[in-house]
Formats: sequence, C-alpha cells, structure tokens
Amino acid sequence: MALPSLDSSLQGIPKSVLAVSMETKYQCQQCHQVLRKPVQAQCGHRFCVHCFKLLTSSGPKPCEACQQEEIYEEPQSILNSNEAFPDNAAGREIASLPAKCINGGCSWTGCIKEYEAQHEGKCEYERVLCEACQVFILRSEKERHSERECEERTLNCKYCKVSFNFKQIKAHDEICQKFPMQCKDCGKKKIPREKVCALLGMGDMAKISYHGIFQIYDYFMVFYVKIINKMINKKF
Ligand SMILES: [Zn+2]
Ligand SMILES: [Zn+2]
Ligand SMILES: [Zn+2]
Ligand SMILES: [Zn+2]
Ligand SMILES: [Zn+2]
Ligand SMILES: [Zn+2]
Repeated sequence: MALPSLDSSLQGIPKSVLAVSMETKYQCQQCHQVLRKPVQAQCGHRFCVHCFKLLTSSGPKPCEACQQEEIYEEPQSILNSNEAFPDNAAGREIASLPAKCINGGCSWTGCIKEYEAQHEGKCEYERVLCEACQVFILRSEKERHSERECEERTLNCKYCKVSFNFKQIKAHDEICQKFPMQCKDCGKKKIPREKVCALLGMGDMAKISYHGIFQIYDYFMVFYVKIINKMINKKF
C-alpha cells in the first residue's frame, strides 16, 4: 500500500540539519530522518509521532526495523497505534543537539530546539515553490517575484479591469475594447477601441466619428429640451 505523501513539517527533521553525526537512536525508523516528537513502540524502536500514526493508520503492522535487525518477535514487534508512548527522554536529547541551516548562503546555527522554533520554514535563504509558475525562488524574493516577476502572475487590464495572465496581456491589448486609440478623423486621442471600431461599416457616416455623434446628439437634446420648455411655458 502506498503511503500518503508526508508533510515535510510533520515528518522527521532532515539529517543534514544535524551539526554532529547521526546516532541511530535519534533516527525515525519510518522516514529515516531525525525524530520529530518521538514515540517509542513496544519493540523499542522510535518513530516520529506523525510517521507512526501514518504507519499504523490502517491497522497493526510488523516492525520492519525488527525484521532487518533479526529481532522480530510477536507480539512486541507488531506496531499498534495504541501501544506506543511519547519518548520524552529522547525528545530532550535531540532538542539539545547542535544544528545548522542547510540552505546555501545561510550562516544560522543553534540547537535542534531553536531550529524548529525559530528557523525552520522561516529561513530567507530557503527556496520556496512559486505555485503559479512552479519555479523555486528564495523565500526573501518570493513577494517581489509574485508581484512583479512571475511569468504566470495575474494582472488586471488597466483599461477594462478584467484580470489576465501576464503572458496574455500583450495579446489582449490588441483586442481590448477599452484600449485607448486615436480617432483617425479628428485626431482626438484616448478614445476606447469599441467606439473607434464602431466607425467600421458606417460608410459616409464614418466622417463623423462615433464620439462626434454623441456630441451632435447632446447638442440636439439641449435644443429639444429648450423647445419643449418653451411649449410648456406657453401652455401654462
Ligand atoms: Zn519519521
Ligand atoms: Zn521494532
Ligand atoms: Zn537558514
Ligand atoms: Zn512564479
Ligand atoms: Zn482590457
Ligand atoms: Zn474624431
């Protein structure tokens, strides 16, 4: 049975974080990294609490470490979720082991306890995945990348406000209905494309630009309102 993928913040601490050589008693028998919140099974083997829960989630399992060491013996070599206890002594020893950061360029050092509490998942030199473009970038550059550099970032068209993928925005400029253009008739600038395009197929009417029509329309509206007002005034 395939195990579900392990969350790296729950399984063991990478061995390479240890600034001293790894002793077997500090190693998880499941993920083979440094024990994180260790539990000890009936057989004496240690596991990260997360790894142990995962291992026994579908029922009791024979301990592979016992089999490899040829000390397998039932029933104590059967791993059972109810029969393991937190190994606080091992936990304390591991917490005080010297640690270093494994990210290139980072000079952080401390103990495992400090690593877990202060540095893990926060290192500026750690490369993190940009979900959008699937490229790893330094944590310290993630924000700038996402806002200004990512090829897959989404932007709003500044004319029509619709959001687009960065790569598509240039092509969109060519068809955006609100894109500002210049009127070929009167030279007036910043007319949305939708109004300029309305000229097409208008024949001679095209001599009056679309925005021009609205000006004429406005002019006549004022004119009619004046006439109507006069008529009303005469009646009453
Ligand atoms: Zn583990
Ligand atoms: Zn065992
Ligand atoms: Zn670091
Ligand atoms: Zn990206
Ligand atoms: Zn647009
Ligand atoms: Zn015009």
